[in-house]
Amino acid sequence: MILLKNVFLNSNICDILIDGNKIAKIADKLNTSADEIIDCRDKAILPSFCNTHTHASMMFLRGIGEDKNLFDWLNQDIFPREAKLKPEHFYPLSRYAILEMIKTGTTCFTDMYFEVPETIRAVEEMGLRAIIPYPGMDFFDEEEAEKRIQRAIKYLDKPSPNSRIKKALYCHAIYTCSQKLVEGFSDLAQKYDVYLQIHVSEAQKEVDDCLQKYGCRPVELLYKWGIMGPKTLFAHAVHLNDEEIELVKKTGTVLAHCPTSNLKLGSGQMNLQRYLDAGVKLTLGTDGVSSNNSLSMISEMKFAALSAKNKAASVLAGKVDDIFQIATQNGFNAFGIKAGEIKVGYLADFILVDMNNQFLLPNNNLKSNMIYAADSSCITDVFCDGKAVMKNRIIPHEAEIIADFKHVCSDLL
Ligand SMILES: [Zn+2]
Repeated sequence: MILLKNVFLNSNICDILIDGNKIAKIADKLNTSADEIIDCRDKAILPSFCNTHTHASMMFLRGIGEDKNLFDWLNQDIFPREAKLKPEHFYPLSRYAILEMIKTGTTCFTDMYFEVPETIRAVEEMGLRAIIPYPGMDFFDEEEAEKRIQRAIKYLDKPSPNSRIKKALYCHAIYTCSQKLVEGFSDLAQKYDVYLQIHVSEAQKEVDDCLQKYGCRPVELLYKWGIMGPKTLFAHAVHLNDEEIELVKKTGTVLAHCPTSNLKLGSGQMNLQRYLDAGVKLTLGTDGVSSNNSLSMISEMKFAALSAKNKAASVLAGKVDDIFQIATQNGFNAFGIKAGEIKVGYLADFILVDMNNQFLLPNNNLKSNMIYAADSSCITDVFCDGKAVMKNRIIPHEAEIIADFKHVCSDLL
């Protein structure tokens, strides 16, 4: 058991008892004995972040192919460099990504990349939660689609190494995947009761190409293919019309909003407030560092808020509480994980922030400070599943993780 003493929670000072992986008690004063007592004077507790769309092992591509649109960037800079990746690169790359996520307060992420057992190994060792999908991309080659489906079955047949890691599936996008692959993965996702993720309507070109090739818009196509539902996650979903938003709402499909990546690649701006008003399940993701260029959910919240206000031309769009909620609670909820709130009975996934940090003073509105002023230097401790993954800004094996990452980069670039 861990006892947090004198921690600032929602304008009150209180004590919080962590029993196993859950928040067991919250009271003004707790005199319970505990294995560890942490003095939290001048620290506040907040839920940790859930990053619902990223590509962890893309860390080596930070700063590559700048100032290009999505399709030039993918074809000229990303795909050719990814072709050089070898299986042994993925563990050090994933560890480096997780290091950045922990430092910026994220305890759960949804990945979308290759060599998934290596990422699972990194997540398991470093103590985070993750949704790790098996990759689907066939470039319209039916034989490749069949191979992928068979390999995905093998992946899903093997149980996850622990409860923090959920196995899943992904199809890259409708412009890289055949109908056979998308429907095959969707059938598997239903059979194994796992999540299915896909990039959808990220850029206008995808919508135009889809209309030309299939005679309908991307979300309409995926609805026809029967893949939408509460265990399906659409990443980006920038260019949706009213009918598509209605389909998303009706099916309970989850959206991962990635504002920084969308702005940077010139893909467009989601009208966040329109989606919120329609009542769709909205979560927040950073996308990979190749298009962000960081994994910080703190800066992602700021871009989400500003982008929402700009797109709607209204200060009432992207309100503080809504933005904080999509970055925390909504992400965990989408994956059936009882976290994202500091309440008794919830999983002990949280961050401690330094209330004397220059970015958090004065403390007129902590969530607003976190969205608009903070950076990762405000975060002192990160807990996932009741265990500290960062204590007083120290993460185990940090120097080794950085050295291994530099070695991989010199190998690849
Ligand atoms: Zn992506």
